[in-house]
Amino acid sequence: MRKKIVAGNWKMNKTLTEAISLIDEIVTGLKDLVKNDDKLVIIAPPFPYLMKAAEMTKGLNQIEIAAQNCHSNEKGAFTGEISAAMILSTGAKFVIIGHSERRNYFKETDDFLAKKVEIALKTGLKPIFCCGELLSERQSGNQFDIVRNQLKNGVFNLSESEFSNVVIAYEPVWAIGTGVNASPEQAQEMHAFIRKIISENYSTQISENTTILYGGSCNAQNAAELFANPDVDGGLIGGASLIAKDFITIVNSY
Ligand code: PEP
Repeated sequence: MRKKIVAGNWKMNKTLTEAISLIDEIVTGLKDLVKNDDKLVIIAPPFPYLMKAAEMTKGLNQIEIAAQNCHSNEKGAFTGEISAAMILSTGAKFVIIGHSERRNYFKETDDFLAKKVEIALKTGLKPIFCCGELLSERQSGNQFDIVRNQLKNGVFNLSESEFSNVVIAYEPVWAIGTGVNASPEQAQEMHAFIRKIISENYSTQISENTTILYGGSCNAQNAAELFANPDVDGGLIGGASLIAKDFITIVNSY
């Protein structure tokens, strides 16, 4: 059975004091969840808070920590960059790779992202691999080709055992931070497509076991109807993950 996951991507927000309060509120608010086995909550704070976040959630099996990015090289002369091994050594278990903000603002290419996925897995981190089309690509009806190519170039060259450690996040770029979420029908349609191509590339068993998250203006009001779809296994949440009450409502929406 695939895991249901709600992951909060804090992006470049919160001071250390604010981060500690938010984690504290989330942990307190989710104390009943830790008894429910098929749900996992992931918190992705900025790099400087990873160790603190991991310490504060240690021993809580239903809450894990993720980094928002990692470098594609194991180590070396890459001033200002953070390696997968550094992330793992903080206690974090996941890493977001290929977020549209990394693809668009930092010009991260499919090849670069594939190398990040590879090093993350080799190191022992589980990638949350993001894919999703631009508004213009949806308007021209190319969303399925775009997503297929992002997955083909980013993760479909992995072995079955490697791929089984990957979480997919479908995040239509036009929905991220805009307040305009994909409709439940649009989300389900794309998630079913992603599951189908995973099955074609690997097997039905692998596709049925893959967690596919929806991201893009998912909030406390719309989470339940998005998560009610059979192929939507939870969400990758940006803005709404910065407010403990909203994030907890979202976690409790499936
Ligand atoms: C995101 O950045 O991954 C995201 C989904 O953002 P938001 O929820 O704010 O649209």
